[in-house]
Amino acid sequence: MSGLSHTRRAVAVSALLLLMTSLVGQATAATITAQPAPGAGVTAPHSLMPSAPAPSPSGREGRTESTRVDKPIKLVKPKGRTGPAGSVLLTGNKGVALTFDDGPDPTNTPKLLKMLAKEQVKATFCLVGTQARRHPDLVEAIAKDGHSFCNHSWNHDLKLGKRPKSAIRADLARTNAAIRAVVPDAKIRYMRAPGGNFTPSLVKVSAELGMHSIYWKVDPRDWEHKTGESSADHRKRIVRIVKKHTRPGAIILSHDYNQPDTIAAYRTLLPWLRHRFDLVALT
Ligand SMILES: [Zn+2]
Repeated sequence: MSGLSHTRRAVAVSALLLLMTSLVGQATAATITAQPAPGAGVTAPHSLMPSAPAPSPSGREGRTESTRVDKPIKLVKPKGRTGPAGSVLLTGNKGVALTFDDGPDPTNTPKLLKMLAKEQVKATFCLVGTQARRHPDLVEAIAKDGHSFCNHSWNHDLKLGKRPKSAIRADLARTNAAIRAVVPDAKIRYMRAPGGNFTPSLVKVSAELGMHSIYWKVDPRDWEHKTGESSADHRKRIVRIVKKHTRPGAIILSHDYNQPDTIAAYRTLLPWLRHRFDLVALT
């Protein structure tokens, strides 16, 4: 009997070794794909330890910020009308992009994700760094569902574009690192300035960090709650503006953070848009 159990143990040890080798192999492959730029730093611990316990939703303990370095992108002036400092209004094809800003939000983002999954629509989430750090489970859920990420600054600094380039760079890098502390190989190819306040410096630094600057074509101003406007009227206004102004290629701006009426409005809008347009995540 002892011989048999020894054999079993040997088989178990071999299987474990094989599994570890394969995991390390995968992690190495992921590292190569995720860090194309020379001088890229160490891999975040999550990709080397796939079985590590999920990070606690509230804490940042035990996290190592990703040091991934993205390739800069070339700044090409888009055709036609642009937003501030040459930021783009359109997707560049017929696809319509839904973008949700300021989150993730523990109440609204899960509702939105559920709705998007039901309608089989992919979207782009412009995350605020502090919110991403607070809600890693939601950052993970966004990636798992196949949506894309956009950097919306560390703490929604409306004057970010006017700060020195070094401060802009640090802010954007810190935000990307917060997302990649949860999803180490996350592609973050877009940046949206808080308030849409793009400046040439902000657009330039974003490009240096591999991100296109996105403005919007359709803005239902869902963040603005006018005095005397009921919740129902607010929702109707969002629905009306989006329906009226959306054309192929539009980038639509909305907010999931602290805007329950927006989520409610999308219960009407999502099926309506989906039947008329090709809804795409910016990738
Ligand atoms: Zn915002």
